[in-house]
Amino acid sequence: MTKNNNVRVRFAPSPTGYIHIGSLRTALFNFLYARNTGGKNILRIEDTDQSRKVDGAVDNLIKSLGLLGIDFDEGPAQGGDKGPYYQSERLAIYRKYCDDLLEKKAAYYAFETPEVLDEMRKLQQLEGRQTMYDGRARDLSEEEVKENLNKGIPYVIRLKVPKDEEVKFEDLIKGVIKIETNIIDDQILLKSDGFPTYHLANVIDDHLMEITHIIRGEEWITSVPKHILIYKALGWDVPAMAHVPLILNPDKTKLSKRQGDVAVEDYLNKGYLKEALINFIAMLGWNPGEGEENEFFSMEELSEKFLLEKVQSSGAVFNVDKLNWMNNSYIKNYDPDKLLELSLPYFKGTDVDVTDNDHTKKILLAIRVYLNKLDEIPEHTKIFTQDKVVIEDVNLLEIIKADTSVTVFKELISQLESVETLTAEIYKDKISEVQKVTGVKGKLLFKPVRLALTGSENGPDLPSIVEILGKEKVIKFLKEYI
Ligand code: GLU
Repeated sequence: MTKNNNVRVRFAPSPTGYIHIGSLRTALFNFLYARNTGGKNILRIEDTDQSRKVDGAVDNLIKSLGLLGIDFDEGPAQGGDKGPYYQSERLAIYRKYCDDLLEKKAAYYAFETPEVLDEMRKLQQLEGRQTMYDGRARDLSEEEVKENLNKGIPYVIRLKVPKDEEVKFEDLIKGVIKIETNIIDDQILLKSDGFPTYHLANVIDDHLMEITHIIRGEEWITSVPKHILIYKALGWDVPAMAHVPLILNPDKTKLSKRQGDVAVEDYLNKGYLKEALINFIAMLGWNPGEGEENEFFSMEELSEKFLLEKVQSSGAVFNVDKLNWMNNSYIKNYDPDKLLELSLPYFKGTDVDVTDNDHTKKILLAIRVYLNKLDEIPEHTKIFTQDKVVIEDVNLLEIIKADTSVTVFKELISQLESVETLTAEIYKDKISEVQKVTGVKGKLLFKPVRLALTGSENGPDLPSIVEILGKEKVIKFLKEYI
C-alpha cells in the first residue's frame, strides 16, 4: 500500500473497566491500519455515560494496550491538537452542534415523560409494530416549544429522520448497504441530563478529529444510517467505514464468556504470551491473502501486511485450541532468558528453587514443549522436585524389575560414580557405555531408566532430566530398584 499520511483512525472505547477480546481486536486493527498507511492512530474515550464510569479504567486500558504493543499518536496520554480526547470534556461542543441541527430543522425538542414513552412502546408491541418513537413532537410549533422550555419541562433533542428516503453507503468490508429512512428511529441526540448520546458525540468527534476511516465492530453497523443523516444535516463528509465481522464461538453463536469474551488481562495472567495473543487476534477476521501459508507474524510484519481489503465479511471463529497451539509454538521458540523472566511467577507454589536461575531455566526449557500457556508450569515440575519416585502401575513395575533393567541400573550407577558433574552430554556418553558393556539396547535400555527416574513412561528429554536431577538423585533413584 502506498503511504497515505492523511489517514486518521481512532479507537473509541467506553471505559467500562476492562478490554475484552472484541475491543482488543478493534484497537489492533486500527493500530495496524495506521501503521500500514503511515497515518495516525487516535484514542478517544467515550465516557458520556457517567453511570457506567469505572475509576482507573482509562489508565488501565492505556497500560494494557501499551503492554501489548498498541500505542497511539494522539489521545489522553499524548494530547494532540484535536483534543480534548475525553468526551466528557467536550460537552459544550456537542451542545453547539446540536443547536445547529435544531436551527437547520434536522433535530427537534421532545418533551415526553418516560411513562408516556413506555406506554407508546407497549401499545406498539401489542399491535405487533416496530417499537420506535412515533414522532409526535416533530411538529410542535415554536411557541409550544418555547412555552415548555420556559416552564422548565424536561426535554430531549431528537434527530428528525426524513420520511420516504433511502440511506445508502458502501462499507469497505461489508459492501453496499441500503436502508429506508421510514424504519429509522428519531434517535435521541441530547439526553434530558444535557449529555449527548453516543450517536451525536461520535459523529461530531469523528468529524472534528478529522477521522478518515472508521474501523469498528459489526455490531455498530445499524447505527450508521443515523450517523449519515447527522453528517449530511451538518454538511459534513462521511468518513470511510469498515465494520469488522463479529467474533463467534466455534458453533457460530456469538462469542460467549466461556470461550473468549473475557478480559484480555485474564489471558495474559494465564500465561498467553503477548506476541501469540496479538498474532491470534489479528487473524480473527483478517488473513494475509492467498498464497500465504505462514500463520506466524510479529507486530511489525502485521503492520506491513495489514490491508482492510483482506478482512473477511463473515463471522470470525474464536477457537481456543488454535490459540493454545499458537501460544505453544511461541513458547517453544521464545528467547530462553526472556521466557524465564515471564515464567518465574508461575513457578510459585512448586518446589523448584527459583533463586537458582540456571536450574529453573533448565527445567523450563525441558518442559516448554508441553506448555500451552505458562500457568501449566506447575503440572510439569513434579518430576524434577520429587524425593521419591512412586510407580503404582503393575505393568510398569514389571518392566522396571526385569533382570535386564537391574543389570542396566547397576552398570549405570558404576559409570556415574566416577563423574564429577553430571551433564546431559556426559549422561549420553555413559548410557552408550552401559549399552556396550551390558549388551542391552533400545527400549529395554531407555525405558527402565526413564521409569526409575521419573515414574512415567514419557516426558521431557531424558538427558536433560538427568542433568537437572544431578548425580546424587539419579544414583539414589536407580538404587531404589536394584
Ligand atoms: N464507544 C463505542 C464503543 O464502546 C464506540 C463505537 C465506535 O467505534 O463508534 O465501542
